[in-house]
Amino acid sequence: MPRYDTAVLNGTVVVPYVGALRCDVGVRDGRIAALVDSIAAGDAGAVVDARGKLVLPGAVDSHFHIGIYRDLATDAQSETASALAGGVTTVLSYFRTGQNYLNKSGPYRTIFPEVVAATEGHAYTDFGYHIGVMTTEQLDEVDWLVGAQGVGSFKYYMFYKGLNLTSDSTRGSAYTMADTYDLGHLYLLMRQVAAAAIKYGAGGRVSLSLHCEQAELIRVFMEEVKRSGPGGLEGYHRARPPLTEQLSIAEALVLTDATRCPVNLLHLSSAEAVASGAKGRRDHPHLDIRLETTLHHLALTHATAGGIVGKVNPPIRTEADREALWRAVEDGRIDTVVSDHACCAEADKGEDLWKALPGFGGTALLYPYLLSEGHLRRGLGLARVAELASANPARAFGLYPRKGTIAVGGDADLVVLDPNLERIVTPEVLGSAQDFTPFAGMPVRGWPTHTLLRGRMVFQDGGVRGKPEGQYVKRPVGRDGATP
Ligand SMILES: [Zn+2]
Repeated sequence: MPRYDTAVLNGTVVVPYVGALRCDVGVRDGRIAALVDSIAAGDAGAVVDARGKLVLPGAVDSHFHIGIYRDLATDAQSETASALAGGVTTVLSYFRTGQNYLNKSGPYRTIFPEVVAATEGHAYTDFGYHIGVMTTEQLDEVDWLVGAQGVGSFKYYMFYKGLNLTSDSTRGSAYTMADTYDLGHLYLLMRQVAAAAIKYGAGGRVSLSLHCEQAELIRVFMEEVKRSGPGGLEGYHRARPPLTEQLSIAEALVLTDATRCPVNLLHLSSAEAVASGAKGRRDHPHLDIRLETTLHHLALTHATAGGIVGKVNPPIRTEADREALWRAVEDGRIDTVVSDHACCAEADKGEDLWKALPGFGGTALLYPYLLSEGHLRRGLGLARVAELASANPARAFGLYPRKGTIAVGGDADLVVLDPNLERIVTPEVLGSAQDFTPFAGMPVRGWPTHTLLRGRMVFQDGGVRGKPEGQYVKRPVGRDGATP
């Protein structure tokens, strides 16, 4: 009997908060069993030769939208396959009642098990869900969602309350299928999540994620841009300018301070947004505030994102914003980088900017883009890359240290990545069902060659291997006092 099921030999192992080390990794029963200077090939049932390559902890893409615009099971299958191509082994996806997704409302006691059942058997990665608490009756389900269902994180959309103020006929209540979705609802939700964070916090972090854009300001700027331009993605950026993020973050932080709710400020897109988030953290050192940005806000500007296909909320902004976000990634103000993956078809974008569906996919670029632009071009440390894409999201969302690091006892979610492998981004390279990509034409160096999920080879030489056997992960992972 070999001592290990699998061994990853001769690689440079990147351990978050530690650094890059030369060692071999032994895997047994789906977990990391040994980190040692050398494992004899005969001691392992299977061997992966990682000579000249990096061995990284599987990325945790903590901002994902499985099933937002397509059938949930179908989308889970194609889009988690795309995630594997970028070294992502765990996806944390947003779900809410209302329009899109399952297009209905009701209690999560009936709807949430349906969501997990629709994903299971279709996901190639392990997965979890953040839940949008949309209605007054769902507020009372927060404790049950954490304690019984392992939902360790929730979401509030600051700008939905204004959907009924915008020009088209989609009234807010029709879209959210909610009664009183406003700052009062947010306050009550923060109280619920703060209580759950105290009750379950010993097992890992419980938190609320916030999409920060301010609805009344969007209404004013959108009317101006529709009247007098500019058109295209620059117009979209001006219709939802950084000021709307700034005000929304300020509103959210007043309530965060009042409730002591742990929060995540999602997809910060502008210099102003990241400055507001960072200032909020400085001004309130007693609060738990985490900052996130996305691959597309780091990589693209309104001039380079390909026109209408690059429509997303918050918008893609300017080169100066992009540089400001990179500075915040480099100096540690930003904790996590995510894809905000939302698969849609080019036809869903159409010709009319204002009617086009917002969002697009990018999960397959998570490690490759951070390696290419962050490490190789800007000199970001390898450990920091693994922290941004794996360890920090795992800690923020109650998965650590089962996920998010390379440590004995943790899940053997390992990515072997070739730092010299270069590809030009096309929809085919990303392996998603999406037939376009705003990242098209970008040269990216540093792609996974092998990915293990709980010790099983799930991706090799550019293709997915085996069946979709990703598991639902209950969070926080230590919430029952069990060994995670
Ligand atoms: Zn999103």
